[in-house]
Amino acid sequence: MRLPDYHIHTELCGHATGAVEEYIEAAIGASLGEIGFSDHAPLPEELREGITMPPEKTEPYIAMVQDAAGRYRDRIEVRTGFEVDFPLHSTFDSSYFSDPRLDFIIGSCHFIDGWPFDHPEFMKEFERRDIDETYGRYYAIVKDLVSSGLFNIIGHLDLVKKFGHRPTRDFTGTIGEIFKNSTNRDMAVEINTAGLRKPVAEMYPSRDIIDTLFRLNVPVTLGSDSHCPGEVGHEFGSAVELIRRAGYRKVSGFKKRKRYDIRL
Ligand SMILES: [Zn+2]
Ligand SMILES: [Zn+2]
Repeated sequence: MRLPDYHIHTELCGHATGAVEEYIEAAIGASLGEIGFSDHAPLPEELREGITMPPEKTEPYIAMVQDAAGRYRDRIEVRTGFEVDFPLHSTFDSSYFSDPRLDFIIGSCHFIDGWPFDHPEFMKEFERRDIDETYGRYYAIVKDLVSSGLFNIIGHLDLVKKFGHRPTRDFTGTIGEIFKNSTNRDMAVEINTAGLRKPVAEMYPSRDIIDTLFRLNVPVTLGSDSHCPGEVGHEFGSAVELIRRAGYRKVSGFKKRKRYDIRL
């Protein structure tokens, strides 16, 4: 079993540490079969300080990952990608969505109508809003993200729970609505282990959502959301246990924007 880790950041975003080679060495050390870099794609200037790279760094970033991919070819598969915010911003050149150098693109929602809800500094806003409306609005954005068909990986699907705020109604049906008509065969939902390191102390998405995804035949992949080399492959044993319990026997890998199966 050679697991992949498709959610890795780099120093370019301004809030991660470690060189590309250190992340790759950590992946080799953890016996992973594939490592996919997915640094934060450029946000507009007023939003990106310490959050994403600026637009002029996207090309050096791709070159840096691809250079390392070549050097490590015999030891591990290194994939090139981005984590892109949805709704989209013009600061991420749309031509990257058809760029043959990219292996995968993660689509993630970190902002609800301009509110960076997963940023600890803006956490108080949760108390000023109705929690069910917050969840509803979040999933409405995720629905558009999924149906855009632009993404290979749906990032941290239930991120809105990060600080432990729970809705008073069940959103499982909403998850079903989001994925039931999906025909994108090159898309998977990530099992993101970073939630274990946050106040909510569980993976994204929850066990109930994973069960729903399995019933709907939605593929999954694995991502540590590493912001330092020590986080690569974090808790993947537990992640595999969770998805096997739901019924999964495969996870997804990506090459040149195409999905393929990796047997568990
Ligand atoms: Zn980050
Ligand atoms: Zn993210």
